[in-house]
Amino acid sequence: MDAKKKLMEELIAEVNVCRRCQLWRHAKNAVPGEGSLDAQVMFIGEAPGYWEDLKGRPFVGAAGRLLDELLSSIGLRREEIYIANVVKHRPPGNRDPKPDEVEACTPYLDRQIKIIQPKVLVTLGRHSTGYVFSRVGLKFRGVTEVRGRVYLKRLFGMPIQILPMFHPAAALYNPNYKAVLAEDFKRLRAILESL
Ligand code: SF4
Repeated sequence: MDAKKKLMEELIAEVNVCRRCQLWRHAKNAVPGEGSLDAQVMFIGEAPGYWEDLKGRPFVGAAGRLLDELLSSIGLRREEIYIANVVKHRPPGNRDPKPDEVEACTPYLDRQIKIIQPKVLVTLGRHSTGYVFSRVGLKFRGVTEVRGRVYLKRLFGMPIQILPMFHPAAALYNPNYKAVLAEDFKRLRAILESL
């Protein structure tokens, strides 16, 4: 079996029975992540929501439909990218993940990044951006300040371009964010064309 596939299957098996924090207790399914293991771009969201929890797949609710629309607007398909979340089980009632839950769960995300070795990390929302910024020694003061900007860094010894964006769920509540997201996806397309 391909080495990447084997490593990811091991990780998914661990996530499915993980008890490192309490979030599994309230969840129906783990949502480890999915997509191409050779993706040039990896998207990192916050946590599974209602539909993700039900189906065990990331970004399958309304925010997922918007993500698909945005991907399609720059000629990308889900199968070409990889998507994972900061935490792999749904926080009850969609509350924010707590710092100890993020700490317990992010070793899985780190391993996913090391397996996939993406050239670009798109961080969606404040939890994802805050976590990735902390890993590369950047101060994080909020998505509004950093979205749409490209940060060239090294992560786990690999050169990486970090592109923070609003979380698509935010655009469901504030339609102004949709135009901002569309603009940031154009930036992503320009980055991918320059690779
Ligand atoms: S959220 Fe992460 S750390 Fe917590 S139980 Fe699920 S997989 Fe484990």
